[in-house]
Amino acid sequence: MRCRRLLKHLSDYLDRDLEPAIRRHIDSHMRDCKPCRTFIRTLRKTLGVLKRQPAARPRAELKAALRRRLAGC
Ligand SMILES: [Zn+2]
Repeated sequence: MRCRRLLKHLSDYLDRDLEPAIRRHIDSHMRDCKPCRTFIRTLRKTLGVLKRQPAARPRAELKAALRRRLAGC
């Protein structure tokens, strides 16, 4: 498997949503390819940090306006 092919499956790989055979190819590629290993490690860390961030909250006045609008329907 080449690096470019690995990138094609990257999102499914990170979501653990891949056929076992393809996953094995990627795992074996990463054992021998330091750039891909580093890239995936960095990407995993970044996704982990993003998941820990609280979701953006609408400001209070926006919430109140939304509530008024919904109440009027
Ligand atoms: Zn590679």
